[in-house]
Amino acid sequence: MTRVFNFSAGPAALPEPVLRLAAEEMLDWHGSGMSVMEMSHRGKEFIAIHAEAEALLRELLAIPANYKVLFLQGGAIGQNAIVPMNLLRGKTRADYVDTGDWSKKSIKEAGHYCTVNVAASGKGSNFTAIPKQDAWRLDPDAAYVHICSNETIGGVEYHWTPDTGSVPLVADMSSNILSRPIDVSRYGLIYAGAQKNIGPAGLTIVIVRDDLIGQALPITPTAFDYAQQAANDSMLNTPPTYAIYIAGLVFRWIKDQGGLAAIEAHNRRKAAILYDFVDSSDFYTSPIAREDRSLMNVPFKLRDESLDAAFLKGAEARAMKQLKGHRSVGGMRASIYNAMPIEGVEALVAYMKEFEASNG
Ligand code: PMP
Repeated sequence: MTRVFNFSAGPAALPEPVLRLAAEEMLDWHGSGMSVMEMSHRGKEFIAIHAEAEALLRELLAIPANYKVLFLQGGAIGQNAIVPMNLLRGKTRADYVDTGDWSKKSIKEAGHYCTVNVAASGKGSNFTAIPKQDAWRLDPDAAYVHICSNETIGGVEYHWTPDTGSVPLVADMSSNILSRPIDVSRYGLIYAGAQKNIGPAGLTIVIVRDDLIGQALPITPTAFDYAQQAANDSMLNTPPTYAIYIAGLVFRWIKDQGGLAAIEAHNRRKAAILYDFVDSSDFYTSPIAREDRSLMNVPFKLRDESLDAAFLKGAEARAMKQLKGHRSVGGMRASIYNAMPIEGVEALVAYMKEFEASNG
């Protein structure tokens, strides 16, 4: 068996010990005689798996008691509609900060349900920087302020928490949740698709302050009404059971690594190896403002784009996969989520040096 270094933006690499344990437990989970995939979501075994996953997530992120944790389906794109449906609460306007492709998708979808005020935009920098808070034009009557905490395609990340006063802050954290500690109490709602730092696609996590739920628009599908899901422990419909089980194993793995402070230190080391090398080279470039660079998704370009195909071919030959940048930005993108070991980043930089030496 050969495992590659998988730099995919998502679904992305998972910790190998988690995959091994899941393989061991595949046919018979803890003497139950069943795979987790085959269990009733209402049986005592799965209820224990679900409760443990939630408890570990609460512990890792230090989620305060007045926040609900929901394990839903529908992905982050689903949340782009589900958030306004639930959080408008009689208001008609919401603020959105546009930092790139994923914010734009959120803005477009929210426009079906409310009047969107784009409070700030990264357009002036061609989305290579996060607009500074003093340039934001917030609407005091907004139902909430929405940000994307890490733009998976563009590679910009907030390294600070916006201050939105009494207006709840909502964050799409799909691509940087669990990469470092955060102060959950600064947010009204956090959502994330699972397929980067959490587990398999199909699970969507919502963390929401409990005073914000219970006023969903009448058109809200019952399965996407936060209050109804909270009242039913996310079991109003059948939850993505296997994905929740794997997420629980990933949460335990993060805890075993030393929790989010240790994970952050590891992520900073990995990102520094890559950015420092790109900055030291005339052959490769990063367009992103230094203070806003993502620790999770590192886009970079070869100055001579005609070498892109050869670069990718050589990477594949060295078992480094999925380095091609998103079609909208071109170039390369190395996604280095929690599960990417430091050796993967070192191998990439060694290859980049070798490629530069033979093509520079
Ligand atoms: N937001 C961000 C920041 C993302 O990276 C992604 C997926 N790449 C999405 C939203 C969309 O997530 P999903 O496909 O799970 O709906």
